[in-house]
Amino acid sequence: MAEPNLNPQDLKHAPQGPRIVIIGAGMAGILSAIKFREAGYDNFVIYEKSDALGGTWRANTYPGLACDVPAHSYTYSFEPNPDWSQVFAPGPEIRTYFENVAQKYAVVDRVRFEEEITACEFIDGRWQIRTSQGREDQADIIIAATGVLHHPNRATIPGLDTFEGAHFHSAEWDHSVPLDGARVGVVGTGSTAIQITTALVERVARYTLFQRTAQWVFKMENDAYAAAERAVFANDLQKIYALREEQEGFFDNFSKAVIDSDSPEMREIEAVCLANLEETVKDPALREKLRPDYRAACKRLILSPNFYESIQHPNAELVVSGIETVEPKGVRTKDGKLHELDVLVLATGFRANRFIRPTLVRGRGGVDLDDVWADHPVAYLSISIPEFPNFFMLNGPNGPVGNFSLIRIAELQLGYILQLMERIRRGECREISASRPATDDYERSRAQAAKKSIWATGCNSWYLDKHGVPASWPWSQAHFDEEMAAPKLEAYDVA
Ligand code: NAP
Repeated sequence: MAEPNLNPQDLKHAPQGPRIVIIGAGMAGILSAIKFREAGYDNFVIYEKSDALGGTWRANTYPGLACDVPAHSYTYSFEPNPDWSQVFAPGPEIRTYFENVAQKYAVVDRVRFEEEITACEFIDGRWQIRTSQGREDQADIIIAATGVLHHPNRATIPGLDTFEGAHFHSAEWDHSVPLDGARVGVVGTGSTAIQITTALVERVARYTLFQRTAQWVFKMENDAYAAAERAVFANDLQKIYALREEQEGFFDNFSKAVIDSDSPEMREIEAVCLANLEETVKDPALREKLRPDYRAACKRLILSPNFYESIQHPNAELVVSGIETVEPKGVRTKDGKLHELDVLVLATGFRANRFIRPTLVRGRGGVDLDDVWADHPVAYLSISIPEFPNFFMLNGPNGPVGNFSLIRIAELQLGYILQLMERIRRGECREISASRPATDDYERSRAQAAKKSIWATGCNSWYLDKHGVPASWPWSQAHFDEEMAAPKLEAYDVA
């Protein structure tokens, strides 16, 4: 498409720079605010649907919450934190980290809390925005920093409403419900349920884990950083960067393994998981119940220092007979047994294909994102959608969500977006969005490459779209870095 030659003075937003609306005050929204200010864009606001910062780390408060990316790598590159208490930091510590960073960079002043964006419509060259408070706002640029896993999948289990005890989804934990001495049941065996298991098994009177599908577990110790180690980090930040580099090498290997199901790296990961199962689970009957019938890392690999130990605790029971119904006193399984419970937790995951939705998003000519994504969400490089000008996503669809640290990804994506925005600031164009041919080509080769990945080897997981194609980045970390280094401008429509 021919590029118009505009005079920067023509831009209606020129006096204050482009108006930027950031959606979401989680990790990526806070990052955006910091980086925009640093780049000289000061005309921005963040809308946050809840009353606090932190995204995932605000919403999830379940016992045992932690990040399975090492803390020093799950940290903004420009804000190292010498004080992480453990290799894998607990959730509340991560939340505090984001709050502190947001405070330090005066991000908080720019957040409109408890104000959800309900509609964004591109009309006459600008985004017209409506919020849950009835406010109307406008933007030249929208950054959708809405996260990936934020719409709880509330499993529809028959009879749930008849349960006399307390029940809730893991991302909506009811802390008023006593757990000590209670009979607690958890549905699911994803990363969340595994963390809850290890945190609760010793606290409760009886712990029942309802497993529909067994999981591979990669044993990963979670050592505490001693005060002396933390002092060394504080005195020499280079030590932190060196550690990050080492950890990134691990991710690099992991990312190479998952994208090629036949790779030696993948076989090695599988061998480690198998050895963990064989060596740690003593009772042969329990071991067989815990043995998955698909390949390791096909579902999101569980990293845990002690899940197998926990499920062998005398308080714990692993139930593999499917759930028939929930009754007032507990859960009845298909083998006819009633498992009496006081608390039932649904660790049943998230609707991972929602992204910014249910917000109404209409691009050029009124095209509705819900229609564009009716089959499955697609975006060029996870960032930009044809006919949705100046609408950029962080950790959008089909990104490296299962491969490496989401913070690293968001930082690289934002650097890329800033380069696109620079074209607008320089007056080279007013509107920029991925072209249809570039997006189609990209998505075709992405889906093709994804078929070779471990996620496509025959299991069910939230990585798969409705056609069973992995909705993830199927190439290496190095390739992602290359793509993010500089936009290929021929892949974009400008106006
Ligand atoms: P998940 O991985 O999607 O697991 C959901 C679990 O619920 C699965 O075991 C699923 O069984 C089960 N399930 C769903 N509906 C069910 C039903 N109707 N009846 C019985 N079982 C049902 O969800 P998650 O554990 O919340 O984790 C989601 C993602 O969040 C993770 O993969 C990870 O990316 C992220 N996460 C990360 C961390 C971390 O440490 N960084 C911690 C927690 C979560 P099937 O397997 O049979 O479908």
